[in-house]
Amino acid sequence: MDRYCVFGNPIGHSKSPLIHRLFAEQTGQALTYDAVLAPLDDFPGCARAFFATGRGGNVTVPFKEQAFELADQLSARAERAGAVNTLKKLDDGRLLGDNTDGAGLVRDLTRNAGLALAGKRILLLGAGGAARGVIEPLLAEKPAALVIANRTLEKAENLARLFAELGPVSASGFDWLEEPVDLIVNGTSASLAGDLPPISPRLIQPGHTFCYDMMYGKEPTAFNRWAASHGAARTLDGLGMLVEQAAEAFLLWRGVLPDSAPVLAELRRQLAEG
Ligand code: NDP
Repeated sequence: MDRYCVFGNPIGHSKSPLIHRLFAEQTGQALTYDAVLAPLDDFPGCARAFFATGRGGNVTVPFKEQAFELADQLSARAERAGAVNTLKKLDDGRLLGDNTDGAGLVRDLTRNAGLALAGKRILLLGAGGAARGVIEPLLAEKPAALVIANRTLEKAENLARLFAELGPVSASGFDWLEEPVDLIVNGTSASLAGDLPPISPRLIQPGHTFCYDMMYGKEPTAFNRWAASHGAARTLDGLGMLVEQAAEAFLLWRGVLPDSAPVLAELRRQLAEG
C-alpha cells in the first residue's frame, strides 16, 4: 500500500490522518496515512527515512520552512510562499514541495461559504507562515485591495513588496486602519492564546463584513466572538481551510479531488462532541 503521513512536532492533535483516511475511503484509494512525530533537531533525517518507501507527506508546525529547504523541486506557489506543507516523491525519486494552504483558504471562502472575492477589499491580519501562504491565491481572485497588517510592520512591508507584482497589495500597522472592509482574515496566532489582534471595530461594517479566523476549535475563536459582537455579517473558522488544503494535497498525490463536504461535516461533528 502507498504510504503517506503528516510530519509535525507536536503531532498528536493532528486531524490530517482522519481527513486523509476518509478521503481514501471515499475515493476507493488504497493507502495508509500516519502521524509522524519528527524530532525538532532532525526533520530532514526523519523525512528522508520516511521517503525511502513513502509516497507523500504533509508538513505542519514547525517544519514548513525546513520542508521548503528539503524539497528538490518547488511549485510556483510554494516558491513564493517560502514554505512547503505538502511533499510528493516523484517517479525519479526527487521530492516535490507544494503549498496548498492558500488554495484551501480560497476554496473554503469561495466554494463552501459562497463568497466572491473579485473587487472586494480584504484585510489580512498577520505576516507569519500562514498569512504568507495565502497572499498569492487571494490576489489571484482579483480583489480591489489586499492590506496586510501585522504587529511587526516590517514583516508586512516585506510581504507587500514580495507580492506587489501580483496585485494591489499593501502593508499597514494595526492602528492605522480605519475604513470598513469586505473581508477580514485573521492569520495571526493571537487566537491560540485567546487574544485579539488590536484592530478597531470600525473595520467591520455591521451586516456586511465577513470575518474568517484561520484557527479553529470547539468553541468560536476569540476573534470570531469579537467580530460577531461588532455585527459581522458572518464568521467562519479555519476548519474548512484545513480540510480543503488536505483535499488539494490528496489531488496532487493521487490525481483525484475528493469531495470535502462530508469530511468537513464529520470533523465538525467530532469537534462539537469534543
Ligand atoms: P506564525 O508563528 O508563523 O505567525 C504568527 C503571526 O501572528 C505573526 O504575524 C505574529 O506577529 C502574529 N501574532 C502572534 N501573536 C499576536 C498577538 N497577540 N497580536 C497580534 N499579532 C500576533 O504562525 P502561523 O502563521 O503558522 O499560524 C497563524 C495561525 O493560523 C495559527 O492560529 C494557526 O493555527 C493558523 N493556521 C491554520 C491553518 C488551517 O488550515 N486552518 C493552516 C495554518 C495555520 P509578529 O510578526 O509581530 O510576531
